[in-house]
Amino acid sequence: MVKIDFANLHAQYLKYKNEIDCAIQRVIDSSQFIMGEEVKELEDELSRFTNTQAITCANGTDALLIALMGIGIEPGDEVITTPFTFISTTEVIASLKAKPVFVDISEEDFNINAEKIESAITSKTKAIIPVSLFGQPSEMDKINEIAKNYQLRVIEDAAQSFGATYKGKRSCNLSELATTSFFPAKPLGCYGDGGAIFTSNTELAEKIRSIRNHGQIRRYYHKYVGLNSRLDTLQAAILRVKLKYYNNEIDIRNEVAKRYTSLLSDKITPKVKSEKTSVWAQYTVKIKSRDHIQGKLQSCGIPTAVHYPLPLHLQEAFAFCERKKGDFPVAEKASMEVLSLPFSAYLTEEEQGYICNKLNSFLGEE
Ligand SMILES: *Cc1c(COP(=O)(O)O)cnc(C)c1O
Repeated sequence: MVKIDFANLHAQYLKYKNEIDCAIQRVIDSSQFIMGEEVKELEDELSRFTNTQAITCANGTDALLIALMGIGIEPGDEVITTPFTFISTTEVIASLKAKPVFVDISEEDFNINAEKIESAITSKTKAIIPVSLFGQPSEMDKINEIAKNYQLRVIEDAAQSFGATYKGKRSCNLSELATTSFFPAKPLGCYGDGGAIFTSNTELAEKIRSIRNHGQIRRYYHKYVGLNSRLDTLQAAILRVKLKYYNNEIDIRNEVAKRYTSLLSDKITPKVKSEKTSVWAQYTVKIKSRDHIQGKLQSCGIPTAVHYPLPLHLQEAFAFCERKKGDFPVAEKASMEVLSLPFSAYLTEEEQGYICNKLNSFLGEE
C-alpha cells in the first residue's frame, strides 16, 4: 500500500545531511552547549533575514510568554486574540493570570477578523496577539492602527509563518513584537524545541534578552524575574544550516501548494490574500463531511490532520473566560471543516497526484 509521510522531515535531513552532521559535531567538539557562539551567530542571521532584532529562546510558547513579560502584562489585564489557534497563544496569557479575550476569525484566511477587534477593547485591554495561521499573516496594518489608537501592544504569533510576507515585509517584522517557533514540524524547524522573539524596540530587546536567561544583566546579577529559556547551541547550529537554504525551501513549498490548488476544487482550497505570501505551515482545505473523508483518506495511506478540532473558547481549561458555543460561529464552523493535507517541500508530484485523485473521487461520492 502507498505510504505517504505527513511532513517528511527525514527527506529534508537527507538533503542537508553532510552540513547538519558537521554542525552537530562542531558543537560537540566545542562543548559550548549553552549559549555557545552559534546562538549569537544564528540571532544575527535571523535578524538579517527579518530585518529586525531576533532573540532566541527555548520554544515558541516561551517566546510568547517572554514577549508578554517584556511588556509587563499583569494579573487582570486583557489580551485580545483568536479562538482558532494552537493552545500556546492563550496558555501564556492565562499563565500570567491575565485574560484572553477572543475575537472571531475571518472565513477567508482563518485569521483574526480585524474588523471585530475594536468592539472587544475595554479599559483593561493591554495587547493584541494576531496569529499568522497556517503560514499567512493577518491584516497587520489595520491591527497596528487599532493598537496605536488605543495604546495597545501588538505581538504577532508567527510560529507558523516565519518567512512569509505582508506588503513586501517579512512576518516577525510586521509589528513591534513577534514570536516564532522552531518546533520540528514548523516551516523552519530544528531537531527538538526552539523559538525566537523579534522586536524593533532596542530597549525591549535588551529586557527580553535578559528575561530568557533568568533576568540576568550580567552573571549572577538579576534585574528581572526571568526564565531559563535559552536555545541549545546544538539547535542553533542545526538551524543555521537550514536557514541558509530556507528561501529555496519556501519557493518549493509554494510550488507544492500551487500544485494542490490546481488539482483540487476551488470550493475547498485555501486562499492567500493579495499583498501576502504564505510559507504553508499547513495546506488546509475545507470539507463539510470532514471526519468521514478523513477516515477514507486514512484507509488509502494518506495521513491528514485537523488543525484544530475544538476552538479555544470551548476548551475546558478556558472555561474561566465564560464563553459558550455559538459565540464565535466562524471559528466553530472552521473547526468542523478544516483538514490539513500532507505537506512538505519533499512531497512528490506522484504523491500529490495520488492524494488529489483520491480526495476528488471521495468528494464526488458525497
Ligand atoms: C507551534 C505553535 C506555538 C508554540 O510553539 P512551541 O515551539 O511548540 O512551543 C505557538 N503558536 C502557534 C500558532 C503554534 O502553531
